[in-house]
Amino acid sequence: MGVTLQTPMIFTPSPNFDARSGEVQHLVLHYTGMQTGAAAVERLCDPAAKVSSHYVVDEDGTIYCLVEEQFRAWHAGISYWRGIQALNESSIGIEIVNPGHEWGYRPFPDAQIAAVLALAQGILNRHPIPARNVVGHSDIAPDRKQDPGELFPWKDLAGQGVGVWTDELSEPGDIEADLAAIGYDVRLPISDLITAFQRHFLPEQVTGETNQATACRAAALRRLTGTS
Ligand SMILES: [Zn+2]
Repeated sequence: MGVTLQTPMIFTPSPNFDARSGEVQHLVLHYTGMQTGAAAVERLCDPAAKVSSHYVVDEDGTIYCLVEEQFRAWHAGISYWRGIQALNESSIGIEIVNPGHEWGYRPFPDAQIAAVLALAQGILNRHPIPARNVVGHSDIAPDRKQDPGELFPWKDLAGQGVGVWTDELSEPGDIEADLAAIGYDVRLPISDLITAFQRHFLPEQVTGETNQATACRAAALRRLTGTS
C-alpha cells in the first residue's frame, strides 16, 4: 500500500550509511540546524561529514531521500530510549529543514508538516514502530541536542497517528521515575531531561525546572506509555 504524497520526492543518495542488523523500532525527528536546506543536504551527503539521515524535508514540503530505509543512516549519535542505546541501529531518521535555535528558530510551515506527516505515516506502515518510540533527537540525547524543538507540532502529528500526546495532568509522582518509565536516560542531569521533556510534551513551558504542570504531565504520559 503506497502513500500518496502531494510533494515531489528527490533521490539524493548519501554515501554515509552502513548495514543494519536489527529491526526498525524507532522514528527519530530532527531539525537540520543550518541556514539553508541545500546546505543541509550537501552536508548530509558529504563523505567527510560522516552524518546522514534517511530523509530531509524542506520547508516547501519537498522530500529528499538520502539513505534507503533498510540501511543504517548516521543521525542519532550517542543516544538512549527505553533501555536501547545507539539508536542509529534501530531507527529511521528524518531531518526537517529549520535554521534551529542557533540560526533563527522559526515555525515549521504547513506544507512542510504535511509532508513530514505523510512520510512518517508511510514509515509507520512499513515498520513495527510503537507510537511511544516516535521521538525527537532531544528526547534520545537530551544533554547534547535541542531538535526538533518546542515549535514542532507534536500534538498535531499525534492526532494523525504519529507519536503520542496527552493533554491530561495526572496526580504527580516521582518525576525522575516517571521520566525513566517514559523512556529518558535518567543517568543524565535532571535539568536536561526536564528541558527535553518540556520541548516535546509541554512546549509552552520550556524552563528546565520542575514545576507542578511538568510533574503532572509526566505522570499522565507515564500512564499512557510507560512501564511501572
Ligand atoms: Zn538532530
